[in-house]
Amino acid sequence: MRSDMESILADERELSDIVCDLAERICSDYSGKDLVIIGVLKGSFIFLADLVRRIDLRCTLDFLSASSYGAGTVSTGCVRIKKDIDCSIEGRDVLLVEDILDSGNTLFNVRNYLFDKYRPASISICTLFDKPSRRTADISADYVGMTVDDSFIVGYGLDYDEKYRNLPYVGILRPEIYT
Ligand code: 5GP
Ligand code: MG
Repeated sequence: MRSDMESILADERELSDIVCDLAERICSDYSGKDLVIIGVLKGSFIFLADLVRRIDLRCTLDFLSASSYGAGTVSTGCVRIKKDIDCSIEGRDVLLVEDILDSGNTLFNVRNYLFDKYRPASISICTLFDKPSRRTADISADYVGMTVDDSFIVGYGLDYDEKYRNLPYVGILRPEIYT
């Protein structure tokens, strides 16, 4: 798989440092609160697994699946909830954990959906990667691991056509793979 990468964006050590920093901030911000951490599947699964093990708080974990992308790399602009949360978040403080914030369309819609349907006390967003130059929706993350340019990245949970999720690092995919 390494030969499909143009370059490595973040290796295992860098990812671990990023996760530790984010966890430390989340721990101090949510100390004493009733925190529910919701992982947005599938892309966040490795990041979430590493992050929550660094968060020494009595919190609740749940998952949600929403789709905005098909097999390609262009957002369709609409989001469908494929798997809803199971636990109650009414009146509780929610932290949405996402792999990457791109156009922002997915999380903008997911956040509105959760607020309207379940009335949580608050919803914050933690994303491992942020592509602010591509943002079209009115949303920003409260916790950002790394800001990236407009290149397509894979690994550490992030896929291209359901592949590369199992890479232990994050790489920039060679454009000829997806064009
Ligand atoms: P948004 O709705 O913010 O445009 O898209 C968010 C979703 O698009 C992410 O959760 C991710 O699944 C996908 N996405 C956006 N940019 C990238 C990227 O560079 N690499 C990968 N693998 N997925 C991306
Ligand atoms: Mg995703």
